[in-house]
Order: sequence, then structure tokens, then C-alpha cells
Amino acid sequence: MKHFLIFLLGVSLLVSCSLQVERETAMQPVDAVNPLMGTASTFEFSHGNTYPAVAIPWGLHAWSPQTGENGSGWMYTYADTLLRGFRQTHQPSPWINDYGTFSIMPLLGEPKTDSRERGVPFKHSNEQATPYCYRVKMDNGVTVALAPAYLGALLEITWPDTEGQYLVVDAYDRSGTVEVDCEEGFVRGISRYNNGGVPDNFANYFLVKFDQPIIEADTTQGGSIACIRFDLPPDEKLTVRTASSFISPEQAALNLERGPEYWSDLEGAANNARCIWNDLLGRIRIEGGTPEQRSTFYSCLYRTLLFPRRLTEEGSLREPLYYSPYDGQVHSYELYTDNGFWDTFRAVHPLFTLLYPEVSEAVLPSLLRVYEESGFLPEWASPGHRGCMIGNNSISIVTDAWLKGIRSVYADGMLEAMLHQTQARHPDIPSVGRDGYQWYDSLGYVPYPEVPEATAKTLEYAYADWCLARFAESLGRTDIAEEYYRKAQNYRNVFYPEKGFVWAKDAKGRWRKDFDATEWGGPFTEGSSWHWTWSVLHDPEGLARLMGGHEVMAARLDSMFAAPNIYNYGTYGFVIHEIAEMVALDMGQYAHGNQPVQHAIYLYDYVGQPWKAQQRVREVMDRLYNSGPAGYCGDEDNGQTSAWYVFSALGFYPVCPGTGQYVLGSPLFDKATLMLPDDRTFVIRADGNSPRNCYIRRAMLNGQELTRNYLTHDELLQGGELVLQMDSVPNTTRGTQPADFPYSYSQDAQR
Ligand code: CA
Repeated sequence: MKHFLIFLLGVSLLVSCSLQVERETAMQPVDAVNPLMGTASTFEFSHGNTYPAVAIPWGLHAWSPQTGENGSGWMYTYADTLLRGFRQTHQPSPWINDYGTFSIMPLLGEPKTDSRERGVPFKHSNEQATPYCYRVKMDNGVTVALAPAYLGALLEITWPDTEGQYLVVDAYDRSGTVEVDCEEGFVRGISRYNNGGVPDNFANYFLVKFDQPIIEADTTQGGSIACIRFDLPPDEKLTVRTASSFISPEQAALNLERGPEYWSDLEGAANNARCIWNDLLGRIRIEGGTPEQRSTFYSCLYRTLLFPRRLTEEGSLREPLYYSPYDGQVHSYELYTDNGFWDTFRAVHPLFTLLYPEVSEAVLPSLLRVYEESGFLPEWASPGHRGCMIGNNSISIVTDAWLKGIRSVYADGMLEAMLHQTQARHPDIPSVGRDGYQWYDSLGYVPYPEVPEATAKTLEYAYADWCLARFAESLGRTDIAEEYYRKAQNYRNVFYPEKGFVWAKDAKGRWRKDFDATEWGGPFTEGSSWHWTWSVLHDPEGLARLMGGHEVMAARLDSMFAAPNIYNYGTYGFVIHEIAEMVALDMGQYAHGNQPVQHAIYLYDYVGQPWKAQQRVREVMDRLYNSGPAGYCGDEDNGQTSAWYVFSALGFYPVCPGTGQYVLGSPLFDKATLMLPDDRTFVIRADGNSPRNCYIRRAMLNGQELTRNYLTHDELLQGGELVLQMDSVPNTTRGTQPADFPYSYSQDAQR
């Protein structure tokens, strides 16, 4: 039950676990995390597109060393050799970029303040990155250590020389301002940097306070950069405390003042953050596997716990307050943001429902706040609505959590918001609401070329409609449920029977010419028909029947891996990084580096060939992930590609959020223990597990034979034990009967 305290009682309680650090044994989950995983990325090729976030989980701000120039979404790139700053960031992805960011950078010798000129060489051998502390000794001998707090950060800086000690505080672009108070020893600043998704009054008010006297200070670049000179003995520490607020300068001062006891020094701040991380990461205990596999696992779990960002601050009476990026007002409530639901509905939010239900509890009412303030549920928020990706996946997140018993939201209000999401489109942002909803409702599909990415939209809307039907059904609204279950069958209208794949149809019902399953873009989103054909999460059985049966669908899955990894870049007009990644990973047309296909391996469980899923998930875990800078095979995407690994390493994956089922794969570790609410545990044991022994010979759930290819949320939540006997040869008789298959709407309707 202590899990819930952090969120319900606010940030002040975050200090409460700092004493536990003493009692820890040497190797803790947090010690296995490598925040540099995924940082060896470029615009052309993503190995994750991550940065080494030093942060409190779901924290208001994160911090990162900065190697890129100001303005670049590639904040920290492993191949870079210069550090340009230590930066407060809110960036969920380089493609979305940052907002309200500012940085601090110590210099030695010349006061070059511009981010293009001030880079200082460094080596990775002189840096130490953990989720709770980043330390570096740059080639000029200047050291920086940084530890995060929920509302700010604490830095310790030393110079090897007294001469030429400068410190830059950079409000990031000329829309920002800085003001130095030399007497009191602090900088007051405002960052207004953003990439959209904010009203005109948006600002991040920040304070940077020093514990050593300022000798002199100047501002440059129209008052957006401060350059401050210090005069300390060599290697004497300058302690920098910084906090900020999206609400007001007064709130920023309050946030800085509220640095509790851990604020005293770097060690205290780092220990506090370390303890929070360790507590949360420790909700999954693993045994067995190699150190590298354990490091990959916990590095992935760390990524899963960074977003969505809790935007909430605390007022003078400790009441929750947030600045709304939707209406520009301050509200007394909770708000979560920086999340692309197109990615995170798949596995990140389902992981929260299981192991971090306090986050799901808080996210649900936050979604309704966004509806009330903006007229729509969020789909890609950073911090307000952003035009990115497709679908109505907010509906999936609500339905999945609600049906798992998370009831922290006013249901009738939420149903209204969900219905509206399917019956309107945001006037300015096509990806918010339902683009092409009139076509979808009148034709039963979104036509192409009338609407861009139309086939992908049809598939996602059909899944969202199934989710909405489930939600309405649980409220007893059978009229709505019936209508939306019917619309959930619309995926059939984009299935091209002659080809056995999904494809595009125009408004007159004519199939698009020149079918090419390897053609990216056009009617699809960041993928081809090879990837989108599988996007019938709620009805794989219905899809199998369209294809010609279980055998045909299994063979189609086989052929995805056997096909040559060729591509037609289609309407993109060039090789987008997702294409380059599919080619590089060399698994045929399987493109694990992007989300539409990430559940596809598990579909073998729906057609009676679960052993193929078992082999393939292990292959993906072994080949396409590692804990190093090149550790992902595509964009990490605010937790999703990581959550795939976390679930898959446990031995199952939530193919269809909203069913409450977890579809079986093949666990990576000998033993994993889930630490569930109310002090329950669920253990997954894989006897005789090894890289060769990836197949499940026999499964026992709480001592009873399990022939099903899935577990339910209730089974996990009750606590218990799944024991798998692993083998080097497939068991081709287990999990082969339709009764063993996970949920499909078509099969369920027959039962
Ligand atoms: Ca992606």
C-alpha cells in the first residue's frame, strides 16, 4: 500500500525513503540501469533516440547533459565529443522536441556563451550516468555532478584553476530572459521556448542559486544568457540549487525554498532520487539471466517510468496546482502530459495498471481535465495537444484501466468525452479527435486518397470503437455498446481479399491500384501493409477468417520473417529512419523498430502455433536489444519499445489492451517476481531456461495445468505462481485448441 503515498500525498513525501539507502545490499535494480542506452542515434538512424535523463520518475522536470546545439532535438548523442550544457528538459522525443528548457554550463578561460561556441571536449570514460546522478570530468578539468529533485536539481561544480571561472545560465533562445542578482547570489530567469502545444502566456520561471559569491556578471544575446564569474580556490565546490515553475515566479521561489533536507548536498539529493528509483524498479525482482540481460531489463524499466510527466506543483497550502497548457490558467488538480498514446497505449499504460496502479489512477482524471479544458481528450500531448500520429488511443487507455478496476474517474463524463472523440475533429490539429469521421461513419472506412493515412486510421478507429463498446457495456449502456461493437468490425472494409492484406479504397469503393505490400506511407502511417495488416488487436480470429483460416494466417506470419527486407518508400519520398531500421535488423518485413507491428509475433498464439511466438520473442530480445548506446532497433518512444522488452522478458505481452489478457511468449529469466499491491506477489518461474531452451513444454498456474496461451489480469493480481518447463524443442500440441487462444471479438461473440 505504500506505493500509493507518493502520489496521493504529494512531493514532500519523496524524502521519506532516503534512510533506506544504508540498508541496501550491493547490487540493487537501480545499479543495473544504463541511462545511456539508446543515445547513439541520429536523424537518419535511431538506436532509441533517447537522452540520459536524470530525473525523478514521472517528474515535473528531467535533466540531461547536452551535446547538441540549442534547438536540436538530438540533445545528447553518444558520438558527440563536446558538452554544451546541463539542461532542464521536458522532451519526450527528438521529433517533438523540447519546451521550457534552460541550461547551466561551467567554462574555463574564455567566456564563450553561445551554445555553438561553448562546447567543451569530454570522454565517456570520464562520465558516470545513473538515473539519480550524472557526473563528468571534462577534458579541461572542470567537474560537474548533477542530482534531480521533483521540482529542480542540485549541481556541484569544481574548476581546476582560479583564473577564468565562468558559468553560463542559458534561457535557450531569445524569447527567454535572465537577470543576475550579484548581491544575493542568484539568477532569475524565464524560458519561453516551445514547439507548439502552449498558449501565449506559457513560461517556465526558474531560479538558480549559488552558495559562493559572484564576482561579476553580464548578460548577452538580448538578455537570454547570463555569464557569471566566480573566484574559487582550485577544486573548491560551487553548489548550485535550481528550481522552476510553470505557474509563476513566486511559485518558483516557493519550489526552491521547499528543497527539504535532501537539498543540503549532492549526496543527499542523489541518495533520495536513488531510493525512489530503486523502490519503483524493485517492483519487479529478477533472478537468472546474464548481467547484460539484467542491465537491459532494468534500463528498459527505467525508460518506462519516465513518462508521462506529472505537471503538478504544490501551492502555499500544499494543494496540487498546475499550469494548463490548454487554457493558460492555473488549476488546483493533477495533470499528466508528454505522452504519445499511439505508442504508449500498447504496453506502457498496461504495465502501469499492473505494477504502478497509482499512476493509472492519476492519469485517468487528468485525461478528463484535458477534455474539459480543450474540448478533446489528448492523443499526443507535449505539453498541450500536438499534431502527431493517428488514432483514438486515449479510449484504449481509459478502457483498459477501467476494466481492470481503476475507477478514479467520473464514468458518465468520460463516456461523453470518448463519444465526442469519435464524432469530431479538432479544428486545428487533425490528429486530435477523429480525422475523417464522417467518411468512416458513412462508408465504414476512411477513404484514400481523400484522407491521408486512411487505412491505418480505419484500423485504429475500429479498435478504439471496440474499446468504447467495452467501456459503455460495463456502464450498462448497451445501446452505445451495440453500435460501437458494430463499428469495430470496420477493419473488414479495408481487407483486400484478393491479396490477403489490408489496402486502401477510395470514396467510391475502388481498391487502390498497384498493390505493393512493401510500400510505406500513403494510406499507412510509418509502415506498409506488411505491418498494418496485423493491426486488428481486438479480433485476430476475425482477421484469420478473412485470410482463410488459422493455417493461412500462421503461414502469413512466417512469410513476414522470410520475405526479403526490401522496401518502397512510397509517399515519404526518401528512406525514413524506420525503413532504414527495418532493413538493418534483417528479419524480413518485420519492423520491430516501430510500433504498428510490435504485437505481431504474439499473434501466433491466436492461430495455434504458440511455439513460434516463443522462439521469435526470444530472438528479438537477444538480437535487437542491449544495454549499450546502440541498444534499441528504432525509436524508444516514451517507454513503449522498452515496455515491450519488460513484458516480453517476463513471458507475456498485452496484445489487446481492454481484454485484461496477457498473451504468453517465453520468459528471459529463470525467475521473476512481481511485487503487487496489497503485498501480493506473482512469480514466473522458467525451469531449465536457457537460450536454447526457449520453448514451453508445460505450464502450471498455481499447481494446475495451464493449456491456455494467456493469463488474465485478475490471475496476476491475485498473486500466485506460473511454472514453465522449458525445452529445446517446440511442444506442438500445447496451446493449439481454439479454447486456448486469447480473446478475439469474433470468437467471443460465438461463445
Ligand atoms: Ca515509433
